[in-house]
Amino acid sequence: MTPPLPTKIVCVGKNFSAHAAELGGSVPSEPLIFLKPPSSIISSGEPIVVPKGVGRVDYEGEIAVRIGTRARHVSEAEAWSVIEGVLPLNDVTARDLQAKDDQWSRAKGFDTFCPIGTVSSVSPDDFPGVTLVTRVNGEERQRAQASEMVFSIPVLIAYITRIMTLEPGDIVSPGTPEGVGPLSPGDEVEVELEGLDILRNPVEGEGDVGS
Ligand code: MG
Repeated sequence: MTPPLPTKIVCVGKNFSAHAAELGGSVPSEPLIFLKPPSSIISSGEPIVVPKGVGRVDYEGEIAVRIGTRARHVSEAEAWSVIEGVLPLNDVTARDLQAKDDQWSRAKGFDTFCPIGTVSSVSPDDFPGVTLVTRVNGEERQRAQASEMVFSIPVLIAYITRIMTLEPGDIVSPGTPEGVGPLSPGDEVEVELEGLDILRNPVEGEGDVGS
């Protein structure tokens, strides 16, 4: 059963130093946050649709968390108490549009650009060891552990809830590690949290049968 849509998906940019470097930048001094619209969400098995005329479209495998309890002004120490669990998320990005625009609503916001998996509960002690693996057509492209994030989940929850209320069902996605790359129609992309869930989506071109 598809869960109710979140009120928002709060994403973090450049939160793994090797990924910031591969994009030609460095990690910001404060978390760099942006929103993806709930309308971009799809489930495992549904196609990612590459829009016509946008240039390169990339996968970004991420170790996301879903909020379980309404949260505002949550301290780092309390952060895990508002989290329901962890899920794989693919922050699909129109990379050429991202480079062209000063803000990323367009590059990150197309329909189907937010595949999400199922939520698994994980303890705060176990979370740093959660391992992300991204594959395209079965070939490994990204591998990282949650412990490699520059700004940790508690730091991010405290930071975000000083700005906005997080509602149950909202998703926080803390950024992708190095190894991002392009997707083409006919590809299949997997974002796995090892031992927890595998998010798997085919890629179609806009106007192909089914999109
Ligand atoms: Mg991302």
